[in-house]
Amino acid sequence: MTFSAVIVAAGASLRAGPGAPKPWRDLGGRPVLAWSARALSAAGARRLVVVTTADRIEAARTLLADLPGLVVVEGGAARSLSVRAGLAALDGPPDEPVLVHDAARPFLEAAVIARVLSALRDADGAIAALPVPDSLKRGGGEIAGSVDREGLWRAQTPQAFPRAALLAAFQAWPGGEPTDEAAVMEAAGARIALVHGDPRLFKLTWPEDFDMAESLARPVREVRMGQGIDAHRWGPGDGVWLCGVRIPHDAALVGHSDADAGLHALTDALLGAIGEGDIGQHFPPTDPRWKGEPSATFLAHAGALVSARGGRILSLDLTLVCERPKVAPHREAMRQAVAAILGIDVSRVSIKATTTEGMGYTGRQEGLLAQALAAVELPAT
Ligand code: MG
Repeated sequence: MTFSAVIVAAGASLRAGPGAPKPWRDLGGRPVLAWSARALSAAGARRLVVVTTADRIEAARTLLADLPGLVVVEGGAARSLSVRAGLAALDGPPDEPVLVHDAARPFLEAAVIARVLSALRDADGAIAALPVPDSLKRGGGEIAGSVDREGLWRAQTPQAFPRAALLAAFQAWPGGEPTDEAAVMEAAGARIALVHGDPRLFKLTWPEDFDMAESLARPVREVRMGQGIDAHRWGPGDGVWLCGVRIPHDAALVGHSDADAGLHALTDALLGAIGEGDIGQHFPPTDPRWKGEPSATFLAHAGALVSARGGRILSLDLTLVCERPKVAPHREAMRQAVAAILGIDVSRVSIKATTTEGMGYTGRQEGLLAQALAAVELPAT
């Protein structure tokens, strides 16, 4: 069955300190209102009614212009009047569920919406709520008594009811401002299911609530990817350095340093993941200091740059492309060497090898190609 939603965003936000009303304050780069509006739309709301103040109607239409079924209407002086204005703007079947939601509860997960709608099948209404975990005291400056918390729940939103039943309950409501829609339906004798809500559905009320919301809104860490490619030419010699391991061979790779193409590709992948240019910028091949340098120096430097940014290497994946020497017998030693250079667990290092079946410069054994991918976790910017 379809459902519609009413988002109440018309309050004066008197407790939230100076600034714009709560639905219009910035949260993670967009207004608070946008969070739950997008969540309800993504969950499939057929109609999405946003109730706001007269001076914000155009702003709401612009902010949410891409959401299907959007209707923006003016609210009233009290929350219940705003909800009624939102219900009046709805169409569709009279028994269609309506989810009433506070704009000031931005972190609305799809799972909560699904739970509330599902519970409505066996009840006259359903609301998101959480059991009270704290001991409850009555009193002012001092305790006048303890309250048994057994069976007590904190009501959240969304609160879901068939549209016609909620309208009728409002019409029968004797007056005074109800605490929520459930109270109105209770007065009409409805059976209302308590559905497990979400601690993140807390209502932005006090100035400090915005700090907590901001920390939830912004990802703390983010993943960056980098790639690195390197090739070196085969020349005369009796062995080759690959991924920090010396392998006896009837040729050597030619290069300014030790020509370890595997470590060079890994170094470039790490530098790429943190936007730090390439290995040639950090270690110019024209600089005599790096002649014959073990390439572990370069990789360790890239690893240190990741660490200096508070970052962490998640995974490295390297493919060596050559006909010879055989890589497989040395693979574990290579993984251990790379892990040791970077100070990471060996499980984060993957080394693979392939040939080009005789084709191209690797096939003709003119040179060896190394290609690497790195995934790095960094503090989010
Ligand atoms: Mg190189």
